[in-house]
Amino acid sequence: MFDSIRVRLTVWHLAILAVLQALLCVCIYDYISFHLNQQVNGILGNVLTSVDQALGKPEVWNADPQVHAANALKLVKHTETPIAIYDATGNLMAERPSGAAHITHLVERPLTGTYVGTESENLQEHLGARRVAVRFSVQPRASAGYFIAASTSLFSRVDELRTARIAFLIRVPFMLVLTGLSGWILTGRSLTPAVLMAERARSIGADNMSERLTVLHPYDELGRLALALNELLDRLAAASVSERQFMADAAHELRTPLSIAQTATTVTLMNTDGTFEEYRSALQAIDNYLQRLSRSVNDVFRLARADAGFKSLHVEDLYLDEVVFDAVKAARMLATHKNITIGISTMESCPYRGDEALLHEMMLNLLENSIKYTRPCGNVTVKLMNNANAYEISITDTGIGISEVDRDRIFQRFYRGGPATMLAPQKVEGTGLGLSIAQWIATSHLGTLELTSSGQHGSTFVVRLPCNGDGATT
Ligand code: ADP
Repeated sequence: MFDSIRVRLTVWHLAILAVLQALLCVCIYDYISFHLNQQVNGILGNVLTSVDQALGKPEVWNADPQVHAANALKLVKHTETPIAIYDATGNLMAERPSGAAHITHLVERPLTGTYVGTESENLQEHLGARRVAVRFSVQPRASAGYFIAASTSLFSRVDELRTARIAFLIRVPFMLVLTGLSGWILTGRSLTPAVLMAERARSIGADNMSERLTVLHPYDELGRLALALNELLDRLAAASVSERQFMADAAHELRTPLSIAQTATTVTLMNTDGTFEEYRSALQAIDNYLQRLSRSVNDVFRLARADAGFKSLHVEDLYLDEVVFDAVKAARMLATHKNITIGISTMESCPYRGDEALLHEMMLNLLENSIKYTRPCGNVTVKLMNNANAYEISITDTGIGISEVDRDRIFQRFYRGGPATMLAPQKVEGTGLGLSIAQWIATSHLGTLELTSSGQHGSTFVVRLPCNGDGATT
C-alpha cells in the first residue's frame, strides 16, 4: 500500500496536519483557560477590595470586631459571592450568606499574620470547582487587621473548558477526514500525468518508436520529466535507425561481392569445356571479390566490437613520427602506379602512447583515400607537428575535393561520396568504411579527425592526438 506515492503523500500530509492541529488546539485551550482564570481572579479581587474599603469606612467602625465586620459586610454589594471576615488569628468575625465561612475555610494555608498583602492572586487556592481568594486588610483603628476571604464557583469556567474540549475533539477528526480526502483527490489529480506517462511509455516499442509521451504541462516537474523522456526516446530512435541502417548497409555491402562470386562460380562450373586460362581468370575474379568481402567483414566486425565497448587497443610507448613515416612508405608503393608523389615533413622524436597498429591503419586509410581521389601525377603532403600540447597530423592532397553535400556525411559508415564514382570510367574501389574506422581510431586515442578544408584543388584531413597520457578509451 505504501508503494504508492499517492498514499505516502496523503499519509504524510495527514500526519503533519494532525500534529499541527493538536498543537493549535493545545494553544487555544491554554489561552481560553488563562482568560477564564483572569476573569475569576478579577471578580474575586473586586469583592475583596470592596470589603477592604467597607471595613475602613468610619460609619461601620465598632470596637467589637464582630460588629465592625458585620457592619462592613452590609455595605458590600456583591451578594452572589460568599464572603467571610476573620480576625488576625483566624477566628470568624462575620460571614455572608450564613455558611460562607464553610466554603472560604477551604483555604488550605492557615490564616496567620504572614499573609499581609493585597494581591489576591498570591493567596488564592484551588479546591474542587471553587476558587477562594484571601487578602489581609490592615485597619488602623482595630488593634490587628482582618483576613477577608471570598469564594466563587468555577462551574461556568469548567463548563466552558469542557465545551472547548468537545469542540476540539469533534473538529480535529472532522478536519483530518476532510484534509485527507482533499489531499487524496489533489495528489491523485497531480499524479495523473505520471500514470498516463507510465501507460504510454509501456505501449512504446520497436514498432512505434516515433510515438512520444503526452506533455500536459511542459513547465511543471512532471512536464519537464516527460520532455526529458521524449528527448531520450528521440536519441534511442535515432540510434535504432542508424543501427538498422548499418545492418542494411552491411548486408548490402556483403551481398554484392558474395553474389558476384557465387555467379562466377556457377558459370565456371557450368563451362565444362573451359581452358586452364579461363578457369584461372575466373578463380582470380572470385578471389578478388572474396578479398573485398573479407575486408568488409573485417571492418564491420571491428566497428561492431568498438560499438559494443570491447577494449581492442594495445597501448604501448611509441614514436608517432615513425608510425607516420612507415605509413607514408607503404602508401608510396600504392601511389607509384598513379605517379602520385607523397611528401612528408615531420618533427623528430614524437613520443606517444597508443596502439601502433591502429594508428598505422588510420594513417594508411587517409593516405589511401588521398591516392584514390587524386588524379594521376598529383601530390599528397603529410605534416606532423606539435600544436597546443597535441600532435597534429595533416594529410593534404591535390585531389577532386569533396562536395558540400558530402562533407557532413563522409564519416558515416558505408557512405560513399558522389565524386567517388565520377573520378574515372571505372568505379573507385572502396567500402565506405575507411573514414569511419579512421575516426574511431582517433577518438579511441582521445583525439579527433576532421576534414578541415576541401575544394576543387584538393582536401585536407587533420588528426589531433593529445600528447600527454595514454589515449586508449575503449
Ligand atoms: P571509401 O573511400 O571506401 O568510399 P571512406 O569512408 O574512406 O570510404 O570515404 C568516404 C567518402 O569520402 C568517399 O567515398 C569519398 O567520397 C570521400 N573522400 C574520402 N577521402 C577523400 C579525399 N581525400 N578526397 C576526396 N574525397 C574523399
